[in-house]
Amino acid sequence: ISNEALLNITDLEVSYGNIAAIKGISLQVHRGEIVTILGSNGAGKTTTMRTITQLLRAKSGSIIFDGVELTQLPAHKIVSLGMSHSPEGRRVFGILTVEENLLLGAYSKKKMDPEILGWVYNLFPRLEERRSQLAGTLSGGEQQMLAIGRALMSKPSMLLLDEPSLGIAPILVKAIFAQIKKIAESGVTVLLVEQNAKAALRLANRGYILEVGKIVFSGTSAELLASPKVQEAYLGKK
Ligand code: ATP
Repeated sequence: ISNEALLNITDLEVSYGNIAAIKGISLQVHRGEIVTILGSNGAGKTTTMRTITQLLRAKSGSIIFDGVELTQLPAHKIVSLGMSHSPEGRRVFGILTVEENLLLGAYSKKKMDPEILGWVYNLFPRLEERRSQLAGTLSGGEQQMLAIGRALMSKPSMLLLDEPSLGIAPILVKAIFAQIKKIAESGVTVLLVEQNAKAALRLANRGYILEVGKIVFSGTSAELLASPKVQEAYLGKK
């Protein structure tokens, strides 16, 4: 069983009405890995993430997480299985404070473990400095830290991150990605969706390239970085 992937997606198809968005993808994430899904606008990255967490329903295929088939489970069950999602666009609650937002992330636990809050503040000291500030007044990068921190509050074994670099200054992207690495080193398996291929491949162990709903290429980060096709299409090299 230890060789089994923590997340195993097979032949997944997702449609919006009769428009196919995901056209039969398979991918695996093993325990302890950081895996990235790269793709340009509209490739289907967010659709994939929302389907894994059951915010969207698959048309067909299987999503097995830690031995449990997720398709057909209600979305609210997913967090209690150990999977947590930091969605695209951050979606923090602007009229609540930083700390209130974080505490909401622990809602699936009967009792909040104060150590987790300390761990999140240790990863993102800026959140601790601003614990009483309304989340809506944080900068974009700080809101991204908060969204990740909130997702960690449920003590997940797997973290899904949807475009953490989106709309954020490069220096903060670097800082946030460094913390994602620390999160992974602490034992949280990470699935990272990104348009920023360079930053994502520097961080990840492996990656999948998604183009209009299909995986067209996959490999280790080194293989992807060395691929002329990936270089041309995603790394801006000719
Ligand atoms: P981006 O980086 O721009 O967020 P993405 O790779 O996350 O792109 P998705 O948002 O998953 O892409 O979209 C995949 C495809 O599904 C696109 O063609 C998009 O227009 C379509 N799509 C997404 N949401 C809906 C919806 N609610 N109804 C109909 N089509 C949708």
